Amino acid sequence: MELSTVLQNYINGQWCTSHAIDFLQVINPATVECLAKVPLSSAIETEQAIQAADQAFVNWRKTPAGDRIQFLFKLKILLEENLDNLAETITLECGKTFAESKAEIRRAIENVEVACGIPTLMQGYNSEDIARGIDEFMIRQPLGVVGIICPFNFPGMIPFWFMPYAIACGNTCIIKPSEKVPLTLQKVMHLIEQTGLPPGVLNLVNGAKEVVDALLEHPKVRAISFVGSTPVAKYVYSRAAANGKRAQCQGGAKNPVIVLPDADIETTTRIMADSAFGCAGQRCLAASVAITVGSAQKTFTEAIAEAAQSRQVGYGLDKGMQMGPVITSASKARIQDLIQKGVEEGAKALVDGRNPKIAGYEAGFFVRPTILQNVDPAGKIATTEIFGPVLSLIHLETIEDAIALINRGQYGNMACLFTSSGAAARKFRYEAEAGNIGINIGVAAPMAFFPFSGWKDSFFGDLHGQGHHAVEFFTQTKVVVERWQDWSRQF
Ligand code: NAD
Repeated sequence: MELSTVLQNYINGQWCTSHAIDFLQVINPATVECLAKVPLSSAIETEQAIQAADQAFVNWRKTPAGDRIQFLFKLKILLEENLDNLAETITLECGKTFAESKAEIRRAIENVEVACGIPTLMQGYNSEDIARGIDEFMIRQPLGVVGIICPFNFPGMIPFWFMPYAIACGNTCIIKPSEKVPLTLQKVMHLIEQTGLPPGVLNLVNGAKEVVDALLEHPKVRAISFVGSTPVAKYVYSRAAANGKRAQCQGGAKNPVIVLPDADIETTTRIMADSAFGCAGQRCLAASVAITVGSAQKTFTEAIAEAAQSRQVGYGLDKGMQMGPVITSASKARIQDLIQKGVEEGAKALVDGRNPKIAGYEAGFFVRPTILQNVDPAGKIATTEIFGPVLSLIHLETIEDAIALINRGQYGNMACLFTSSGAAARKFRYEAEAGNIGINIGVAAPMAFFPFSGWKDSFFGDLHGQGHHAVEFFTQTKVVVERWQDWSRQF
């Protein structure tokens, strides 16, 4: 699967050259090599994709669900066969390690597998004889054309939180990858093409704001699935709502983790290091703040500092690497500025990962794992999404205080607790204000058959991605009340 240097759009079953005036370079964040050029497609090209999807919807919605999912079965096999190739592409454009990239594609496949159950998941329900001779039932029908807008950090997985469900339910789609990492979805589209999916059912438009705005303003687009930063999520949600569209918009995060004195420190540290520094801290479920309670402070601080220092940082395709670079030089500068801000606010850089020298990749966008100690719970560093490998340490005396601090937070994507107490675990999962809860888990990512349930400023909407929520989001219900009787006879 070779890709052309100038990426193309995929509209109505055809690869087409964009008429864009502006292009961006797709940069390997470790080597700083230019991998391709991505067009910033226009509203007119987006309109063409919407028209193609709208025409394809006429027949696609009539295609039985059992036939629609046959394309997904084929796609699953193709994804399995091309897993290494796709993972390599993710590492090339996104920077994460090859193992992390493979795990990402596994998650994508998991969503395809769940969406293969749509004939059952999409079933409605019925009641016979709600009144004498009258039956009532509810059926689910697809919405029509839907738009899917993706962020940079999981180019192989996030499209799959939505796309397999959308098409299996009978909708047609336009997908826009992040302009920073458009290569993976190009490859995925080539695989989708091999499944023989009818033209127009799935369309790929590369670009940025102009494409998003065209999707948001077009009356034929019935629903928007968005994942990205909170300010853009809010904007997309409000425009979609103003235009009468259904919307699910996942935003940013600032994920806190409590470590209680009764936690197993060795296991906690291993899991926490992966959560805070895995994918260079660019997971929306990365641990960002660790709140130690009581005597956990000393043991955890020493252990996590050691784990941060010993993490192998380098090019994600090199063997033994545990962490790659962050996505862009701007992102690196932003993260380093935030570390400085933390120090100015009174925190101590216990482990300072700024401006590391990574042999062979001196120009790469690397920041090593960083630990900030004595962080002010109300300060900028404790409340701002950093999206980099930086863990802030805060110490409190009780679990009550720790939960209260979490619940004062702006975001609610994930909150975790490390403990060996069932009672503490129950209290935490009951009281913590976050949609994804981890107990002795560092990245509480739901399996594909559960919804991805961010709260507060981490999510705008009602129905989340994945599983049953995705089926509900991508269908509308119709309730039918029927009276049938043989008018010639008295029963
Ligand atoms: P981003 O908001 O910059 O971009 C996301 C998408 O929106 C991209 O496709 C981009 O082209 C588009 N976009 C950007 N600015 C826009 C604008 N002004 N108008 C219209 N469209 C615009 O996000 P990112 O930097 O690509 O991704 C990182 C963010 O995504 C982080 O905040 C992270 O927490 C979040 N994220 C959240 C989840 C979740 O499940 N909640 C998952 C992954 C990432």
